[in-house]
Amino acid sequence: MDQTVRGMYCLRCSSKQVVRGSIGESARFYPLRGFLKAILGKPVFIKDEHSHACLDCGLVWNELDTASLKENIRTFG
Ligand SMILES: [Zn+2]
Repeated sequence: MDQTVRGMYCLRCSSKQVVRGSIGESARFYPLRGFLKAILGKPVFIKDEHSHACLDCGLVWNELDTASLKENIRTFG
């Protein structure tokens, strides 16, 4: 039983042992800001259907809408 994703490599260790998964429905990304801005700024929601994890090094990665991220950074700095 091989659940690894064909053609997918880990961004950090280049392992091919990558599996799909989920990090939860309310996953959010907060662009790095100063402390106050981090509280006031809104997060960008992550697309849950694109979660991956590396079986060898533990790196987890995901994907979000780049237009939403750019707009978020423009708005909240
Ligand atoms: Zn890895």
